[in-house]
Amino acid sequence: DEALDLVAEVPDFPEPGVLFRDLTPLFGSAAGFAAVVDALGEAVGDGVDRLAAVEARGFVLAAAVGYARGLGVALVRKPGKLPSVAGRVDYALEYGTATLELPSGSVAAGERVAIVDDVLATGGTVAATAELIKGAGAEATGVAVVLELAALGGRARLAGLPVHALRTL
Ligand code: IMP
Repeated sequence: DEALDLVAEVPDFPEPGVLFRDLTPLFGSAAGFAAVVDALGEAVGDGVDRLAAVEARGFVLAAAVGYARGLGVALVRKPGKLPSVAGRVDYALEYGTATLELPSGSVAAGERVAIVDDVLATGGTVAATAELIKGAGAEATGVAVVLELAALGGRARLAGLPVHALRTL
């Protein structure tokens, strides 16, 4: 697919030995962005009440998908940004830990929520987001991502959560 061919490869970022996938040219292409938003909109499936996304690129994608599909978005944030928090999850990174927070009132109990993000790597970000959704009494229905980096094992870590990747590398 032409749009996905716009993703660039950056060796040794953010540290030596890591091949970073840079979506900047994709976000910068009107046709590429539209194609990816349309495909993600299909990938989230039917029977979904809401989207959830993590800052920052996840917000951009989920906002466009939400508009196209007529769905609101729960904006999951890194810590310290929200005045009122419905839930907080700490999760392990390769080195150290990270935290995500769900805004109060952003997800209602019983809702079916699909997660949208740019890249699925180790799956830690999506797993934490699914945990926040469950903590709010809602159900995570699946995750739609532009790229899945299969070697990092995210899909296995998300056992039970359907993963829809526009491209798996
Ligand atoms: P994970 O938690 O290890 O699955 O990492 C996923 C998060 O890190 C996503 O929200 C991505 O935005 C970011 N990420 C990880 N690897 C890459 C990459 O190669 N390119 C762009 N973003 C990445």
